[in-house]
Amino acid sequence: MTGQLYVVATPIGNLQDITLRALEVLKGVDAVAAEDTRHSQGLLAHYGIRKPLLALHEHNERQASNKVLAQLQAGQNIALITDAGTPGISDPGAILVEQAHAAGIRVVPVPGPSAVVTALSAAGLLNGRFLFHGFLPSKAGARRTELEALQEQSANLVFYEAPHRVVETVADMAQLLGERTLVIARELTKTFETIQRLPLRDASAWLEVDSNRQRGEFVLIVSGAVAAREDALSSATLKILQLLLAELPVKQASKLAAEITGEKKNRLYEAALRLRN
Ligand code: SAM
Repeated sequence: MTGQLYVVATPIGNLQDITLRALEVLKGVDAVAAEDTRHSQGLLAHYGIRKPLLALHEHNERQASNKVLAQLQAGQNIALITDAGTPGISDPGAILVEQAHAAGIRVVPVPGPSAVVTALSAAGLLNGRFLFHGFLPSKAGARRTELEALQEQSANLVFYEAPHRVVETVADMAQLLGERTLVIARELTKTFETIQRLPLRDASAWLEVDSNRQRGEFVLIVSGAVAAREDALSSATLKILQLLLAELPVKQASKLAAEITGEKKNRLYEAALRLRN
């Protein structure tokens, strides 16, 4: 009898975000394959679990997967975890899972947190479709090429980004993707969790206001191209709103502009606030 490979999601910050089933599985397996064994040792100790740990990370994934596969074939049950969230999502795991399928080993997902879904759930973007892009290249040229290739994509775009690159990435997005809504989801489930929705063109300024806003872990969600076009007010509507704003307070100006143009009052109110600022 071969063993089973459990692909187990672990917290992305808040240690209470682990499922009862994940704990039961981690307690029951023979060994745990982990991205960073020291980090995972701490995580398991937090839940009172002691297990043999095997290192499986991006630099030894193929070799380590062969070892894990041999153990599975010898009948051991193994759990695969990474430093945070769901294995295989911008994390190691796919090679081992592929090999396990090929060897006829049962792969059992144990779902739980992932930063992409956590951010989307709090983004409030009405277009329900999304494209998970993960990390953009670190080199500016390659990053811009990938963003250009996404210009016509109508699904909302989800990116992971590192703190030392977030400012330049957001600047490139504003330049190459144009009028969109951006959701900056920072430090999800942690003490300094921040979820900020704003027009993409204002995002660089927002990040520059306070260097703390550039710290930590980031998910960036950019509204899709079609949604962006639907969201845009016509230039004639914006002109009317601007003229009214020059004479009237925001509330009155947006109400009158709604009567003149037939646009929804709350959309004009939001646009008026942006223009005022
Ligand atoms: N496997 C993980 C998942 O399921 O989300 C992702 C691992 S990837 C190596 C790490 C990246 O995920 C971070 O650089 C950041 O972009 C994003 N991330 C992870 N935890 C996060 C958090 N608590 N808040 C915001 N982004 C997070």
